[in-house]
Amino acid sequence: MKQSTKKFLLLVLGCQMNQADAERIEMILLNLGWKKTDSEREANLIIAVACSVRQSAIDRIYGKARQWQTRRKAGHLQAILTGCVLTKDKKKLGLQFDLIITAKEINQLPEIIESQSVLTTTDYLCLPAHHESTFTAYVPISNGCNNFCSYCAVPYTRGREVSRIAKSIITECQQLVAQGYKEIVLLGQNVNSYQSGRYNFPKLLTALNKIEGEFWVRFLTSHPKDFSLDLINVLAQGKHLTPYLHLALQSGDNDILKKMNRRYTAEHYQKIITQARKKIKNLTVSTDIIVGFPGETKQQFEHTAELMQMIGFDMAYLNRYSSRSGTAASQLKDNVSKLEKKRREERLNKLLKETALANSQKYLGQTELLLVDGYKNGRCFGKTASYKIVAFSGKKSLVGQFVKVKIIDAKSFVLSGKLA
Ligand code: SF4
Repeated sequence: MKQSTKKFLLLVLGCQMNQADAERIEMILLNLGWKKTDSEREANLIIAVACSVRQSAIDRIYGKARQWQTRRKAGHLQAILTGCVLTKDKKKLGLQFDLIITAKEINQLPEIIESQSVLTTTDYLCLPAHHESTFTAYVPISNGCNNFCSYCAVPYTRGREVSRIAKSIITECQQLVAQGYKEIVLLGQNVNSYQSGRYNFPKLLTALNKIEGEFWVRFLTSHPKDFSLDLINVLAQGKHLTPYLHLALQSGDNDILKKMNRRYTAEHYQKIITQARKKIKNLTVSTDIIVGFPGETKQQFEHTAELMQMIGFDMAYLNRYSSRSGTAASQLKDNVSKLEKKRREERLNKLLKETALANSQKYLGQTELLLVDGYKNGRCFGKTASYKIVAFSGKKSLVGQFVKVKIIDAKSFVLSGKLA
């Protein structure tokens, strides 16, 4: 293919892990001389990074793939699918894509696309990335999951958990800091079960905390069953480690947690948060909750609402249960009505707004360090180390910089401030 016609488009759906995979795919293609385009008509290679968490995300892939068929059949387009795809979807989508590859096979793209030899690294997590942002970088530390939560498709789509070698993570982070990156987000389906040689997750964070420079380290996602006191003690040291914890609760009822195969109790979750709040100054906590899991009674739902109230989250990502084919929970009767799921979600949302507002008001009058990550119509947006969103009047040139802002107003999910 002529150099001038080598244009690719990436369609990325889902979580930050898919975004990180896409950044690695982009680097491979740029190194092969391909140019990125946003136009589907212009592209002669489209790589879709799919998400199977919600049916709507996979439906979008079906819809897009149908639109590409005419150009694909005429030989003007090659379409490749990767990311999280369930076996049943793989069978159907196999007819609409030229190839379906797993995330682990991304390093074989040069051979697949251009019959060039495979990249030297066999671990796709170690591939260099072309980061979308110039100040925030996603760094994958593991891929896959061994937990088999009964509602989740990830262990089937991404396979068993594999940890990336620690030296490669530390070197990548050192290089990012040297390039001026201000925020490093470590990614994995369950970062706190990370284990590579003598490095577990607390040891890896300790090593990253020794890197000189002005930057923050965050991580996604943690599992309560693997959350250790050792990790809390490391986070309490601060410096580059931020006082923000995203810890998925999913339910506050022990019988539902058992049916979800989460392998912790509501009491255990509460104990982690109490210990973490004791040791980590100004800690903010966010979570994920599923409402209307099969068989969830009104009383079991109330246990979740009570725990939410007791913990007082800053943020919660609330999901109405929907069955994913192939998972253990898909065998259970999805017997909570749509209306009741909506009601439960609204109830938790109301609780969340109250606890988040009470937490946000503690910032009033304080001066906070922010990393500015957005700008619109004379307003800058940034996040505190504790991941609170702050809006203030400022210039676009501040995007990507650390600034100090005095907090003058507080809503549940957004603070307002003035440049200090
Ligand atoms: S920990 Fe559970 S919810 Fe998270 S990816 Fe693994 S199986 Fe899915």
